[in-house]
Parts: sequence; C-alpha cells; structure tokens
Amino acid sequence: MKFLFSALLFLCILQATFAQNKQFTRQDTLRGSITPERAWWDLVYYDLDVQIFPEKKSLTGSNTVTYKVLQPKQRLQIDLQGPMHLLSATQHGKKLQITSEGSAHFISLQAKQPIGSLQKIKLLFDGQPVIANNPPWDGGWTWKKDSLGKPFIANANQGIGASVWWPNKDHPYDEVDSLDVKATVPQELMAVSNGRLVDSISAKAGTMTYHWTVKNPINNYGVNINIADYAHFSDSYNGEKGKLDLDFYVLKQNLAKAKKQFEQVPDMLEAFEYWMGSYPFYADGYKLVEVPYLGMEHQSSVTYGNKYANGYLGRDLSGSGWGHKFDYIIIHESAHEWFANNITNKDVADMWIQEGFTTYAENLFVDYHFGKKASSEYVLGQRKLVRNDKPIIGIYGVNQEGSSDMYFKGANILNSLRYIVNDDERWREILRGIGSTFYHQTVTSATIENYISEQTGIDLQAFFDQYLRTTKIPKLEYTLAANAVRFRYTNSVAGFNAPVDVKINGKMLRIVPSEKWAELSLKRKINAFEIDPNFYIETYKSSNAVHQSTHY
Ligand SMILES: [Zn+2]
Repeated sequence: MKFLFSALLFLCILQATFAQNKQFTRQDTLRGSITPERAWWDLVYYDLDVQIFPEKKSLTGSNTVTYKVLQPKQRLQIDLQGPMHLLSATQHGKKLQITSEGSAHFISLQAKQPIGSLQKIKLLFDGQPVIANNPPWDGGWTWKKDSLGKPFIANANQGIGASVWWPNKDHPYDEVDSLDVKATVPQELMAVSNGRLVDSISAKAGTMTYHWTVKNPINNYGVNINIADYAHFSDSYNGEKGKLDLDFYVLKQNLAKAKKQFEQVPDMLEAFEYWMGSYPFYADGYKLVEVPYLGMEHQSSVTYGNKYANGYLGRDLSGSGWGHKFDYIIIHESAHEWFANNITNKDVADMWIQEGFTTYAENLFVDYHFGKKASSEYVLGQRKLVRNDKPIIGIYGVNQEGSSDMYFKGANILNSLRYIVNDDERWREILRGIGSTFYHQTVTSATIENYISEQTGIDLQAFFDQYLRTTKIPKLEYTLAANAVRFRYTNSVAGFNAPVDVKINGKMLRIVPSEKWAELSLKRKINAFEIDPNFYIETYKSSNAVHQSTHY
C-alpha cells in the first residue's frame, strides 16, 4: 500500500519535490544503511509481548530478539523512535549500557560472542506511540471507535518504520525467520496479529492476551496488531500447496457484508497462484482483518478498510471500467503477499519490487478472470497516472523511496516486458520463477533485473536503466514512405533497443529500433500503420523533410 489517490495527491507532489532537494542527515544514514552495528548479527526471531492501553493510547512491553553472531563485535544497534522509550536491554541476566543517538540505540555487550552462536537480548519499552492522522500514508497508531462506540485500534507503519512503536532492527535487508506476538488488551476486545492464533488467556484481571505465531520470515513493517470487538469466520482454499486456511476478522455489525465481499478471496488466490506461484505462507494461513483505515499488506494478516465495495473506495483508478469489477484493497494488498512479503526490497530505494509488481498483479487478476484485452485496457489506463517526476529507484542507504511512479509506471514497465517476451507461458514461468528462486528473501532491484534478463535471454540492462533510473520515456520517431517505414529511438539511454510490434496493413510485425535510423521495406504499399500501445514508448511521426535532414 501507500499509494494515495485523492486531493492528498497534491500533498504527495509537494513532498516529492521536497524530497528531491532533501539534505540527508546522520539519522537518515543510521536508519537507512547497514551500519557496522547492524552488519555483524543476523536476525533469527522476535518474541514481542505488548500490552495496549486504549484509554491512555499507550503501550508497554518487551521484545526479546534472538540473533546469530556473524562477526565478533560488541556494539549492537536497535531502533526505536520517540516518544517511545527504550527502558532497558538485558542479556544473560545483566542490564547493558545503552547509548542513544536519536532513534538509534547502541547497546554495549559484555563481551564479544562466538561466531555462529545464537544469542538473546531482551528489550523493554513503553510510551505513547505516534498517532497516525492519515494512515496508512503517515504511519503510527490509530485509536478510533467503531459505529457502536467500541474501541477500534490498529497500527500501520510502512515508510515511517516499525520502530515507531516497538524496538527492532529497523532495516529491510534483514528479517527474522519467525515471530511471536503476544498482545494484551481489555477483555471485551480482541487483538488480531500476524500468522495463527495459538491461544488466548486471561493472565491479568480484566485483560485477555492473544498469542499469535508466524512460522515464516517476516518484514518489520508487516508486523501489526489490530484491536476491536471482532467477529470471526473462516473458510479454506484448495491451492497449489494443498489446503490453505482463510480467516476473516471483521466488525460484528459488518459480518453479512464481509461474508459477501470476501467471496473475492478464492478468485484472487486462483488468479495469483496461476500467474505468480503458490501463496507463500501456507504455514501461517491467510487472513483479512478489518481496520479503521484503507488497508495494508501486513503479512498473513492483510488489513482491510475499503468499505465493502469494489474499486478503490468505489473508484476505478484505471478509468477502463475493469477496476469496478473487483475490490482494489483485497486484490492489491493480497498481491503483496507475493511481492513485498515473500520477496522484500533490501533497501526501500528499490520499493518498486513491491509496488510495481503488485500494481502489475492487478492486471494479472483482470487477465485471469476477464481476458488479455481487458488486462491491457486496465494497465494502459493506469499509464495516464504516471507523472515521471523523478526516477522510480530512490536513494540507497538513507531510507529514501523513489517516485510514486513505482506503482503505475512499474506496472507498465512489466506489461511492456510481457509483450517484449511475446510468449505468455514463458512470461508466467518467469513471474513464478521470481517467487520460487527468491523465496522468502530480501532482494535488490539489480538481482531481479538480472534474473529477468537471464530468463528472457535478452540483455535488459538499458531497458531497466531507462525506465527505473531516468524519467525519460523513449520516443519512437518514424517516417512512412510508400512501401517503407524508417524508425529510430530518441530520448533513450545508450543501448536502448527494446523491440516494438507494429501492425502494417493489418499484419503484426516486430521491429527493433535503436538510436540509429533503420528501415523496414515492404513489397506492398503501406496503407495502414499502427504501433502496439502495450509497449511503453512515446511515438512521433516525423515529416520527410526532418527525416531526410537527420538520417543516415
Ligand atoms: Zn501496495
């Protein structure tokens, strides 16, 4: 998630402009880079135990971090943003010294630890976390009431980071292999987190503790706790890896609407397993959880607030009509289970891996259920929303995402690739291959780019550089003579030579333009000439005069 389409889009434009001139600080480096105090240890497991106080809008808890020692170092970085407090760090029964620098807390261990050993450190924390005024775009906690006046509480923290409310290693390159969340809430409420419910017990008077467990690697920002007077219903889906448990937690007053709207879940799973491979978290099940904001891709706990209507809050962003055929939040946020949760960017500069592929997945859903022509109309409709304000890839090492074009331009880049590959079965194998080759891993854009180049047998370096690292859209300049078409690319990076399909006199032909003029001669006179719009280029028919002065 994180794309916002409303009046607030203007705010995003302002923020984007500001970000281009942003002066990065040491805090940005501490947050966004693999510091020496992070690099020497590998996350294994978080045991997060937190009590939530709705009246005070506050939390208190502990996170016990299990890590594996990669190098013998003694200083360890943990992140927790103010106004939350890191109260203590304890190892082997001893309290350790903490030196804080803004949101980064450097913990001095008592001794260097053996390489390969597993170690535990227990972190106590409390405080009133940042309140999200407009979640999920500005992250933090949301303390709302439902229509019956009962507390309706959630957190969403993509961007701002999980360290806005709990202490952890807040950099996406490293993920725990598993996680437990124990959430204690007033007894009249229920807490729903990631993975499966182990048990719910009343350890303290007037409270209930809900213990959830995740058996797969999980990114920090995917960890969430949602609190309400929930109704629960369940189902199952027979998928590629057998029986997948589906669980749904919704406000009691919305139960009937949810049972109807969530019938889209099996349709979603069928389309996505076909195109992208098996659902990546069978062990943890799949959940949709109603929240007081639009939605977010929380792993195996996809959050939902799209008002039980199709479209994006009732609108079809593509303008093609196809966006009214499905619930945008169910489809988009669930697609993130494949791209964002199964495969996660190592640095948020490469977040197009999450948002580009996921936005592209929307048209795979359309393709599966409504056909290839419909999917093309959908993705081409999204192209109108591309701004080309700055590159899709952001700035590495300082927690800086690229342009929000990662969504719609990202989808159009992948649609172009599908048409370049020109073999849908091969393209499907590539998409599924990404999911299986990098299963449960964090990756860079370069890794995914190289994989696609290898699998297609086409060197796509210039292609990816053009679309991800510049804002320039290649322009196909062409001239038509009686029985020849001459063409070249302008506005392109060196070596850009993506093929394009053109229809001449009703017959589809493939041309491979480059920055040099080339000519395709035909035996017959050209009566009709069309360029397939699925290739993401601009076109320009130049006059003969211009052509003669510039070519050869
Ligand atoms: Zn998204």
